[in-house]
Amino acid sequence: MEGMALGKDYATQECSIASALEVIGERWTLLVIRDAFYGVRRYNDFLVHLGIPRAVLASRLQALTAQGILEKRRYQQSPPRDEYVLTDRGIALWPTLRALGVWGREQLTHRKLRIFRHADCGTELGPFSECPACGTVVAVPDVEIVPGPDLNRDPADPVSRALLKPKRLLQPVDADAA
Ligand SMILES: [Zn+2]
Repeated sequence: MEGMALGKDYATQECSIASALEVIGERWTLLVIRDAFYGVRRYNDFLVHLGIPRAVLASRLQALTAQGILEKRRYQQSPPRDEYVLTDRGIALWPTLRALGVWGREQLTHRKLRIFRHADCGTELGPFSECPACGTVVAVPDVEIVPGPDLNRDPADPVSRALLKPKRLLQPVDADAA
């Protein structure tokens, strides 16, 4: 590091991981992306599910939209309301999130909070989102998320309640019905 002061970015790093962390390395960012995979799209749903400060959420959504990871779509005209949907660039982060989840469970939590299955056959996915029964890597829209044995079955917020029902990744979560 040639005695440089620690900067606020990784500009001196010639490294793809450092470049990725410039985009997704801030606190809360990956959890916003995780929620988007779970089908959370609306500001208030992110807010109640994450318990994140409003200003931080607004900042993260803006940054992720600017980076082309989320796309902002207007779903209501008056009053104007937008929702945030993963782009292809965002969906390409799935193997990273999957790997982090597996690592966190095996090395830290030792709890099975959520199970990811191949929607077509119901088989639980392996660590690389592969279906052991079908012998294929399962595409993100064909991944089904279901509560694991260690997940709280009586959560306080409506998004967590909606996520108690099996659903495919990316499919919009219906917090109003929960
Ligand atoms: Zn399968």
